[in-house]
Amino acid sequence: MGGNRGEILINEQFCKGCGFCVEFCPKDCLIIGNKLNTEGYQLPNFINEENCTACTICGRMCPESAIEVYKYISS
Ligand code: SF4
Ligand code: SF4
Repeated sequence: MGGNRGEILINEQFCKGCGFCVEFCPKDCLIIGNKLNTEGYQLPNFINEENCTACTICGRMCPESAIEVYKYISS
């Protein structure tokens, strides 16, 4: 792996299911899933994890600041 690999954490209780993160991820790492949070909002799923570059676009687009982006240090 190495390189620019990233990972995200979604704070599910903050999500309002708007889908902006899904729409704007340039690597298609997010899709709307089948799971709802306790407020009834449909949560995104993080997929194709190996393609995530930790670009932080999803986190910056999220109006609820529900996404944290992490980057792995390559060794
Ligand atoms: S950090 Fe970038 S590549 Fe990774 S899921 Fe978010 S928008 Fe997609
Ligand atoms: S942008 Fe934020 S609030 Fe909207 S679906 Fe994604 S995680 Fe949820």
